[in-house]
Amino acid sequence: AVVTRFAPSPTGFLHIGGARTALFNWLYARATGGKMLLRIEDTDRARSTEPAVKAIIDGLDWMGLTADEPPVSQYERAARHREVVEEMLAKGEAYRCYASQAELEEMRETARAEKRPPRYDGRWRDRDPSEAPEGVKPVIRLRAPLEGETIVHDKVQGDVRFPNKDLDDLVLLRSDGSPTYMLAVVVDDHDMGVTHIIRGDDHLTNAGRQTLIYKAMGWDVPVMAHIPLIHGADGAKLSKRHGALGIEAYQAMGYLPVALRNYLVRLGWSHGDSEIISTEEMIEWFDLGEINKGAARFDFAKLEALNGHWIRRSDDADLVDMLMAERDVLPNGGILKARSDDEIRCKLTAAMPGLKERAKTLLELTESTAYLFADRPLSFEDKAAAILDDGGRQIVGALAKRFEAAPDWSAAELEAIVRAYAEENGLKLGKAAQPLRAALTGRTTSPGVFDVLAVLGRDESLARLGDQSA
Ligand code: GLU
Repeated sequence: AVVTRFAPSPTGFLHIGGARTALFNWLYARATGGKMLLRIEDTDRARSTEPAVKAIIDGLDWMGLTADEPPVSQYERAARHREVVEEMLAKGEAYRCYASQAELEEMRETARAEKRPPRYDGRWRDRDPSEAPEGVKPVIRLRAPLEGETIVHDKVQGDVRFPNKDLDDLVLLRSDGSPTYMLAVVVDDHDMGVTHIIRGDDHLTNAGRQTLIYKAMGWDVPVMAHIPLIHGADGAKLSKRHGALGIEAYQAMGYLPVALRNYLVRLGWSHGDSEIISTEEMIEWFDLGEINKGAARFDFAKLEALNGHWIRRSDDADLVDMLMAERDVLPNGGILKARSDDEIRCKLTAAMPGLKERAKTLLELTESTAYLFADRPLSFEDKAAAILDDGGRQIVGALAKRFEAAPDWSAAELEAIVRAYAEENGLKLGKAAQPLRAALTGRTTSPGVFDVLAVLGRDESLARLGDQSA
């Protein structure tokens, strides 16, 4: 069975590129009936923090990309990493190197002078350990092949060849006994039973070196797929300005997980010309062979348009649940705390069909509910106040009287009343509706005004209209 993994370093929050990597791993696991595992690469003790680990796990959960097993800590596996190195020493696949800092620096100097990448010259490969200088703690290096080439058979990049003479004897254990990243990744992927490594193509060169470690241990090399990085809309490397933010920033901007998944899957993968892709469809269609080779460009406008689409397509009840759940995260979430939860849920549910047609984000959706929970007397946008001042109050007063007599407080019934009034007074329907909207919401834009009346209910509507009647 397929086992994929997401292996973030918890030195920052879950950023958008990491979320896409996680999504691809998750999708491939779902598409093949396999599992996605989570490994926290927390060996950099100074930079790995508890809050960062939590943010990654929370971010994945929120995105709907929860791993299939509890996370594995790379740091906690250090003893196992050392055990593997002992095995390699015993097999002659690794050796102790006593080169001093000064010697290594000299090798780097020479490389600089010769304008080639620095490379350890293998001076301890075949030396007898009895020659080891007194009191020096060695590092342990891989005895890498000197000739031939190492090929990474990559599902996205094709066969990538590394001449072995360019891959030097990499360090496996530092002199303090701590495992290097290169070693830890291979041992962990092997032990976790990972069959498919899907990660950013900034790790492609590492893949060549890691392949050497697999070979030295006689382990199967997992299938690799190195996915192109995300760039900004201008083609430059993704920066904060372009959207290289933590996933929690997208949550606070009011994006839906389903829309983010849709947007992120299209960044670097395509299925014909489908743009709007449900998660079920992604799972059905996703394959590594369809991942694009070129860098993807992040485009906020596209993400917003998709988000609006998914808001319109969501069930009203789900949107109500989502707003209630996100109100602590959304900067304007206070709007959804001004009344009792029961009242808020009830009004949101009634208003949602009209509201969800207009909002591109949950932020906008929340903003658009403000009129539901506003205290009387309302505060007014300038344009709304102008409409009321400009003869609007007479119309509001007249309509309020007729509404009071309405036998049935429904959108259809109230619309009929306004139409009749407009006709009798030679007004266009909008001329009557505008002051109504202003008096009821304090604004000039809102869902259909008859829906607003129905959602606010008889008492609240009449009270708001009464406040503004002349
Ligand atoms: N920890 C690495 C990173 O965050 C990923 C390593 C891997 O996927 O092999 O870039």
